[in-house]
Amino acid sequence: MFKFLKKKVKAVLGRFTKKIEEEAPEEKITVTEKEAVAPPTEKEIKEITKEEKPELAEEIKEEKEKKEIEKKEKVAKTKKQKKTEKEEQKEEKKEEKPELAEEIKEEKEKKEIEKKAEETKQKEKEEQKEEKKEEEKEKKGFFAKIARTLTTKKLNEKKFEELFWDLEIALLENNVAVEVIEKIKQDLKKSLVDKPIPRSKINETITNSLHKSIEELFDVKEIDLVQEIKKKKPYVICFVGINGSGKTTTIAKIANWLKKQGFSVVLAAADTFRAAAIDQLQLHADKLGVKLIKHDYGSDPAAVAFDAIKHAESTGKDVVLIDTAGRIHSNVNLLDEMKKIIRIAKPDLKIFVGESITGNDCVEQAKKFNESIQIDAIILSKADIDEKGGAAISISYVTKKPILFLGVGQEYKDLEPFDKERLLANLGL
Ligand code: GDP
Repeated sequence: MFKFLKKKVKAVLGRFTKKIEEEAPEEKITVTEKEAVAPPTEKEIKEITKEEKPELAEEIKEEKEKKEIEKKEKVAKTKKQKKTEKEEQKEEKKEEKPELAEEIKEEKEKKEIEKKAEETKQKEKEEQKEEKKEEEKEKKGFFAKIARTLTTKKLNEKKFEELFWDLEIALLENNVAVEVIEKIKQDLKKSLVDKPIPRSKINETITNSLHKSIEELFDVKEIDLVQEIKKKKPYVICFVGINGSGKTTTIAKIANWLKKQGFSVVLAAADTFRAAAIDQLQLHADKLGVKLIKHDYGSDPAAVAFDAIKHAESTGKDVVLIDTAGRIHSNVNLLDEMKKIIRIAKPDLKIFVGESITGNDCVEQAKKFNESIQIDAIILSKADIDEKGGAAISISYVTKKPILFLGVGQEYKDLEPFDKERLLANLGL
C-alpha cells in the first residue's frame, strides 16, 4: 500500500537533506536549548566537546570527578553514622536491660529501633532524590552549554521554495490534492525557514515536520460507529458513490463486520437502475445470511429504502444498509433521485465509497457528493492496490469528513478501520 509514494517521499527527503547540508549557510549561533529545533544528540555532544570546545569537555570531566568524590564521601559518612547509631542502640540495650524486665518495655525498645530504621530509610530515599535532582540540574546546565555552541543550518525562504518544488512534484505525481500540498508547504515553511536546524538533524527535522503536517490532515471529528449504532434502532446507513467504486462489495464487508460486532443487519437494494446490482447484493446477502429487501428492477429506490427500514423496525434489526445506484456526480436528475432517497430514509449516516486508486478523481467525487447531499464519512476501497495514496492523504482534509475504513481486498474480511498512524508508517514517516 502506497509504496510508490513512500519511495518518492524518501528520495525527495534525502535530496532535501543533502541540499540543505551542502547549500544552506552554516551558522554557529547562540541558541538556548529551547530555541533549537531539536536538542543535541549524545554524538553531537561528543563531537562538540572534542572538536569545538575541548575546554568544555575538560570542565565537564572535572565536574564529574568532583561529584564522584562528593558522592563517595557522602556514602562513607552515612555508613559511619549508621554504625554509630547501631552501637548507641547496643549500648542503650546493655545499660537498660537489667532494669527492663517487663515485657512492655522490651516491646517499646523494639518499636524504637524499628522507628529509627524507618527514619534512616526515609532519609536515604530523600538523599537519593536530592542526588537525582542534582544530576538533572547538572545535565540541564550541560545541555545549555552545548546548545550555545551548536552548529546549525539556516534555510531562507527562497532556498526553501526551490527545495520544496521537488516535493511538490512528487506529491502531485501521487495524486495528492493541490490544497493539501499547499498546507504541507506552509507547515514546512513555518517549521524550517529561518530556524536553526542542528547539522546532524536535518533529515529528522524535515521528516518530523512532514509527519506532523500530514497527521494534521486527519484532524476531523471522528465517528465511533459501534457507539453510534448503539444509540438508535434501527440505525440507517446510506452508501453513495459512483459505479464500480466497490460500493456493493463494501456494503457486504460492512454487513459482515457489523455481524461480528454483534449487530443484526438488513440490506436494501435501492440501486434499482441495474438489474445486476440487485442480483449481486442478493448473492452477498445469501452468503452472509442477512435479509435483503428488494423491489423490481426500475422501481422507486426511495420505496425500497423505506420498506427496508419498516422491516427492520418490525423485526427488531439493529442496522439498515442502503445500497444506492452509482451515479455520476454531475448528473442532476440522478442526484435528485438520491436526494429523494435521503429525504425518505433519513439516514443516520451517509457514507461516500470511493476508489483509492482514482486519486484526485475520487477526492473530486467526494467533494461533489458532499456539496449535494452532505456526506458524513468516507470508505476508500481498493487501498490494497493503490501505490500512490493521494486520495487517502487528501480526502479528509478536503471534505472535513473522517475516513472510517479502508477496503484492502476482495474478501469480506478485507476491511481495515482507518488508522492515520498506520498510513504514516506506510509512507515511511
Ligand atoms: P460497485 O459497482 O461500486 O458496487 O462495485 P463492486 O462492489 O461491484 O466492486 C467492483 C470491483 O472491485 C469488484 O471486482 C470487487 O471485487 C472489487 N473490489 C471492491 N473492493 C475492493 C478492495 O478493497 N480491493 C480490491 N482489490 N478490489 C475490490
